[in-house]
Amino acid sequence: METMHIPADQAGILKAAEALKTGLLVGVPTETVYGLAADALNPQAVRAIFQAKGRPADNPLIVHVLNKAQAEGLAVITPLAEMLMDAFWPGPLTLVVPRQKIVPDVVTAGLDTVALRAPSHPAMRKLLLESGLAIAAPSANRSGAPSPTTAEHVMNDLNGLIPLVLDGGPCEVGLESTVADAAGSIPVVLRPGAVTPEMIAAVAGECLVAQSAMRPLHEGEAAPSPGLRHRHYAPKAPLTLVKGPQDKVAARIRALYGAEERACVLVMEGRLSAYQGLKAFSLGQDMNQAAHRLFTLLRQADGAGCSRILAEALPEEGLGLALMNRLARAADFDIQIV
Ligand code: AMP
Ligand code: MG
Repeated sequence: METMHIPADQAGILKAAEALKTGLLVGVPTETVYGLAADALNPQAVRAIFQAKGRPADNPLIVHVLNKAQAEGLAVITPLAEMLMDAFWPGPLTLVVPRQKIVPDVVTAGLDTVALRAPSHPAMRKLLLESGLAIAAPSANRSGAPSPTTAEHVMNDLNGLIPLVLDGGPCEVGLESTVADAAGSIPVVLRPGAVTPEMIAAVAGECLVAQSAMRPLHEGEAAPSPGLRHRHYAPKAPLTLVKGPQDKVAARIRALYGAEERACVLVMEGRLSAYQGLKAFSLGQDMNQAAHRLFTLLRQADGAGCSRILAEALPEEGLGLALMNRLARAADFDIQIV
């Protein structure tokens, strides 16, 4: 199959809407990462997403909607979910709520809940409007690889496997949405993202973070979110995170670097000076830039043939929590404390 890579302009969006309506897959830009879109109510089209990504069938998908009104046709909107939708939609917050029967089992991996999000990206909103569909869309990468934040990343992973990619430029946020369970009366963050637990608590009064969001599951432990069971976001090179006081972290990273043929270092801009003479990638000046760059840099490290990636741990506050969640999983929890 030849993959068309076209701009996300009006003509491109109309073409994508037609493709979705006939059950085809489309790579689409969102404000978080690129999505691999299909008609959420067409089980055959949704099955094709799992196939193209090589995604385990037990990992449910996020369904994208225009707004609360469309969400009401798919799920039970709890008072908590409604409050959070009013505060954060459209935007990078996915809410897990009880599903209605209309949502196919293949979308929810058989769960009785569904994950819903109203994206803010103008091209994705136009696509939702033009197609009139609810759009199931996980990240448009091969399962396990770093998420795609440009159309080129999507092409690198899925060229030849899907018919169409809409190019809307680099994603604004660069990390996947926050996933929060809003089925009960207290929100629980299952996957941290740009909408932080602090922001959710400011609206809902409180907000819990699932413990398993930040550590590996124990043997036999039930996953509150099925995605937590799987390795994610990983570059080909092994990634090691080092945590502790800055001087000790730098010393450990230098030692690990020296033992490798072609290591590279991944740190914030302000920390580059501690790694002079080493191959180092900058995550930027602040957490927003780091989120925007992380997945691109992981792909670049692979492209540069790095044999091992050594990264400084980041403070787990605000957006730092989401960054550390992705880094820890990309590292398969290889975290050295010094
Ligand atoms: P992705 O689509 O690749 O961004 O991943 C979607 C994330 O949402 C995965 O971590 C899923 O496990 C999670 N998710 C989707 N649906 C549900 C659900 N019904 N309950 C809990 N987590 C969910
Ligand atoms: Mg994903």
